[in-house]
Amino acid sequence: LQADKSQQSAAEKEFENTIRPKEIVEFAGQPQIIENLVIFIKAAKLRGEALDHVLFHGPPGLGKTTLSRIVANELGVNIKETSGPVIEKPGDLAGLLTNLSAGDVLFIDEIHRLSTVVEEYLYAAMEDFRIDIMIDSGPNARSVQINLNPFTLIGATTRSGLLTAPLLSRFGIKSRLEYYNAQTLKKIIERSSSILQTAITPEAALEIAGRSRGTPRIANGLLRRVRDFAQVLNDGSIDIGITRHALKALNVDEHGLDEMDNRILSTIIEKFKGGPVGITTIATAVGEEPGTLEEVYEPFLIQEGFIQRTSRGREATHKAYEHLGKKPFTSTGA
Ligand code: ADP
Repeated sequence: LQADKSQQSAAEKEFENTIRPKEIVEFAGQPQIIENLVIFIKAAKLRGEALDHVLFHGPPGLGKTTLSRIVANELGVNIKETSGPVIEKPGDLAGLLTNLSAGDVLFIDEIHRLSTVVEEYLYAAMEDFRIDIMIDSGPNARSVQINLNPFTLIGATTRSGLLTAPLLSRFGIKSRLEYYNAQTLKKIIERSSSILQTAITPEAALEIAGRSRGTPRIANGLLRRVRDFAQVLNDGSIDIGITRHALKALNVDEHGLDEMDNRILSTIIEKFKGGPVGITTIATAVGEEPGTLEEVYEPFLIQEGFIQRTSRGREATHKAYEHLGKKPFTSTGA
């Protein structure tokens, strides 16, 4: 099961939308972020101003899109959604911006994938709520200034390391979403089950939670699959027996690690004797960008104690060896 939404089918996206929390009280976890957002939203409403621009960053599936929609909902404004690679030309951006009413939210997913030109146009829009566009070409070319309604840009990214300093500095509110603990994921799973009108025992919900890589998208995806087993093999309700059976049949990792996580661990252990080994070297070996490893995969592996970061690179821990059923290399002498 994937946390990455670019790999989702249409049915999975549809499913996701039906269980997506719409109000702030339905959003579980991330208490620090929520607490602050509630204040900023109230303050903006009191002043009758647009909320400051917001950046949500963090690994996929942790609730960036969900939170953005909730913010717009709480502000009582419209949200227009787009994504970095979709805005090809400054004209596309101008089209989006000029269609916003006062206080509206423009949500740009994958904001790290904006082209440089478009990004530069965005600066003035964010800062002064105006945009200069070139009309005509050749000797008649001239730039026209268009004033925009004050709006809130909400950007989401899994790769904040790729954002330029000028863009970063234009976000007044920057929040990093963290992985969820099992108790919070359990609550999310129970909420989703009740929307799906499927009974689930607390034990079963916790079992799924523990295998979800700290990620609500994965938790909901697993729930959906386990529900299939429960419907066909049980009376439709989810207990611990059917959950264990389903997770085994689905080949879900005991710790919720995905294929890339396991590939990273086995690379460090098998090709580099457990490390220490540099992130770039690991990246080349697993065929992924170093930045993606660092921002998307590694944080979870470090948090869960599978690898540790040392001054000389990454090292696999005992937990990683155990997980892969291997014996640690013993350093001889040196
Ligand atoms: P992202 O934009 O970070 O990739 P999404 O906002 O699309 O993630 O969330 C993925 C799925 O997980 C959605 O179906 C949403 O319902 C669920 N989800 C994410 N965060 C939460 C949360 N805090 N509480 C409940 N459900 C959540």
